[in-house]
Amino acid sequence: MSVLSSAHVHTTYCDGKTPAREMAERAYALGFISLGFTSHAPQTFDPGYCIPPEQEGAYKAEISGIKAEYAGRMTVYTGVERDYYSCCSADGYDFYIASVHYFLLPGGHHCPIDAAPEKLKSYVDEHCGGDGLEMARRYFTLLRDYVLASRPPIIGHFDLLRKNNAALHLYDENSPAYRDLSLDCLRPLADTGALLEVNTGAIARGYLSTPYPSPVLLKAWKAWGGEVIINSDCHDARFLTTGYDDAEALLSSLGYDHAVRLGKDVLWERYPLGQ
Ligand SMILES: [Zn+2]
Ligand SMILES: [Zn+2]
Repeated sequence: MSVLSSAHVHTTYCDGKTPAREMAERAYALGFISLGFTSHAPQTFDPGYCIPPEQEGAYKAEISGIKAEYAGRMTVYTGVERDYYSCCSADGYDFYIASVHYFLLPGGHHCPIDAAPEKLKSYVDEHCGGDGLEMARRYFTLLRDYVLASRPPIIGHFDLLRKNNAALHLYDENSPAYRDLSLDCLRPLADTGALLEVNTGAIARGYLSTPYPSPVLLKAWKAWGGEVIINSDCHDARFLTTGYDDAEALLSSLGYDHAVRLGKDVLWERYPLGQ
């Protein structure tokens, strides 16, 4: 394993199970050269899932303290995972991840995409006429437009809806219609310079056997000259590097000879795969 970093970890400030300090201890014990904290950004709904708005200052302060503590040994970054519907500014953070976790419902409510499968199933039935592919179209267009408008450093778990589709079979992941839809939405993002996240979080939590995004998308991204970053989207320090070996092997099999990670001395650095 050559990653030795994760630019996507959660803590008890949001829905993570591990306190920030323990996460840093675990990363350092694993020989990490860098670690980026990215709790879910404050939002005005689903409060159990994100940093409470009144805790955002404490979150930044604690990560800054950890950063100082590990200076010279492991470079720690203060990041945040911003949802399209979060209410958090990127100011004061070293970097952020742009993700979409919700659909907006009439009346200002939100339907989570990667939480309880029955919620996504109801959304498809009630708002997409039972058409899972229509739901996928809405998800990918939302994420595409978010990335094009905000120009983030990292695109989070591009095909997140695979998590619930594995159980619900709302659409056929191998159909030409789905493939073309996801590729068409990914294509313009390659020109933004954003890093496409290879996210192993669903492997650690037992939902999927391969990372987000699918090999078809990763292969196309490579052909378009895009760069990738392997992240564990870790919510529990025991799984900080779960899936990393498989992600590296997958990228190598698709022709990638390097990936990008948070650097020890610079924000982003390339490193060779397979070493
Ligand atoms: Zn996420
Ligand atoms: Zn996350």
